[in-house]
Amino acid sequence: MEKIKMQNPIVEIDGDEMTRILWAMIKEELILPFVDLNTEYYDLCLPNRDATDDQVTVQAAEAIKHWHVGVKCATITPNLQRMEEYHLKKMWKSPNATIRAALDGTVFRAPILISKVKPVVSCWKKPITIARHAYGDIYKAVEYRVPGPGKAEMVFTDEGGKELSRQTIFDFKGPGVLQGMHNRDDSILSFARCCFTYALEVGQDVWFSSKDTISKDYDQTFKLLFQKVYEEEFQDKFQAAGLHYRYALIDDVAAKVIRSEGGMIWACKNYDGDVMSDLIAAASGSLPMMTSVLVSPDGNFEYEAAHGTITDHYRRHQKGEALSSNPLATIAAWAGALKKRGELDGNAALVRYADCLGQAGLDVFEEGYLSEDLASLCDPKELKEMPENGKLMKLIRARLETLLA
Ligand code: NAD
Repeated sequence: MEKIKMQNPIVEIDGDEMTRILWAMIKEELILPFVDLNTEYYDLCLPNRDATDDQVTVQAAEAIKHWHVGVKCATITPNLQRMEEYHLKKMWKSPNATIRAALDGTVFRAPILISKVKPVVSCWKKPITIARHAYGDIYKAVEYRVPGPGKAEMVFTDEGGKELSRQTIFDFKGPGVLQGMHNRDDSILSFARCCFTYALEVGQDVWFSSKDTISKDYDQTFKLLFQKVYEEEFQDKFQAAGLHYRYALIDDVAAKVIRSEGGMIWACKNYDGDVMSDLIAAASGSLPMMTSVLVSPDGNFEYEAAHGTITDHYRRHQKGEALSSNPLATIAAWAGALKKRGELDGNAALVRYADCLGQAGLDVFEEGYLSEDLASLCDPKELKEMPENGKLMKLIRARLETLLA
């Protein structure tokens, strides 16, 4: 079979530990035999980030802006323990945070559903995608532990030093706590644009939730800016695509999502998204089955698995143990990126290959060959085998060859 050609590259971002091993296996078994792979490669393994003073991460983000499509392997976010383990010069920032900031992007997370692992919520038939606004609110808040009686105020002074607002937050009669948080219109606007852009991309409705009945200025601002972006920039395109945008209170949306069959994008403020994405992941099946794509408002896409570098498997692998890790979300990331590249370049063969790649992994799992994490979640009668990583790749490759033939 002749290999599929690619006119333009995708940005390939390599990573750490067990996922780095899976990454190489996926390329070797499932991509290189079929595609004349064209990538611009950036090695974000922790030693290389340290050696380049993290410039490699900045370059990778710039490359995504240039080529519009990237695929990323999971990477270690260093903490104190990692500093010692890798003898790092510095506790480098999370690469995902650096790339997200450079692209001004929003992360969309959706579970891969398979029939052998039933969602806890039995009416869910389609994946629910969580779009989390990853800027501000409590994640950039200023806090204060109030020691005793006194008055807390919120003051705003403009650039020229003129006081525009002073409000009493609370007259404390004893100890307590205080928090001051913020968000920016430009960040909220770009969050809204990312949500609507991605919704058109995947053909799903957008539900946005907040608590504007209680938070009459803060959450109200989110609600109004979303409405403005929708009406001015997206309404016509949504109508043409038969899609809908709805705003509702978060408690109302939470209740409706539980009773729905899924298949929508639930846009959440930062903290809500943090909580809801783990809730949706756990209730749908398992964390290793979450896919993730970072979308920028001007249409750049970076695909990855939501899970980390699977450190516990890596340690066992180092001891020579055969492992059964779950490669599906990483395969889905490659499939997503190659498909996007194919669509942007009008490369039908690449789009078809990418669809088959995503499907091949699913089919093998549906046949009852399941990785360790899922084997424990499904009915034992449904489990044919728990293949180790090398064998699982071979099974997926055989299925991929059949699908492509
Ligand atoms: P993790 O996702 O690697 O693992 C959490 C748990 O889920 C573990 O028990 C692991 O065995 C299991 N698991 C995860 N993915 C799996 C898979 N594909 N197959 C089978 N089991 C799987 O998260 P962690 O242990 O909290 O973090 C490990 C490292 O990953 C840390 O250094 C962290 O900084 C990094 N991390 C990176 C990303 C990213 O790059 N997107 C995300 C999260 C964590």
